[in-house]
Amino acid sequence: MSSKKQFIDEVFTTFEINSLIERRKCRATGKVRFNSKGEAGFFIQWLKWRYKKWLRGKNRRKHRYGSGEGKPKQRYTYGCIHCGGYHITKEHPHDYRRKKEKYEQKYAE
Ligand SMILES: [Zn+2]
Repeated sequence: MSSKKQFIDEVFTTFEINSLIERRKCRATGKVRFNSKGEAGFFIQWLKWRYKKWLRGKNRRKHRYGSGEGKPKQRYTYGCIHCGGYHITKEHPHDYRRKKEKYEQKYAE
């Protein structure tokens, strides 16, 4: 294990991710709210890290293999107009914008 990897492991294990989540929820979407794009990005990295760690763990065999179960789907961050914060999503921001525009056109009048 490289020292860099060890460092990352240490950062993630000592980081109080649960308190970060519980403190901030967006009332409009019910999603976890982050103050910055960087924070949201960090959380996505944390999800990936946790998943990789889980894959390496012994519990893996109890679960169904290769189904991709538990794999984090959230990969993108976007700014929320309701709370002014940032959320993570599995949808590509471009698709999200397109859907939103469609929706707004539909209910414009
Ligand atoms: Zn929000």
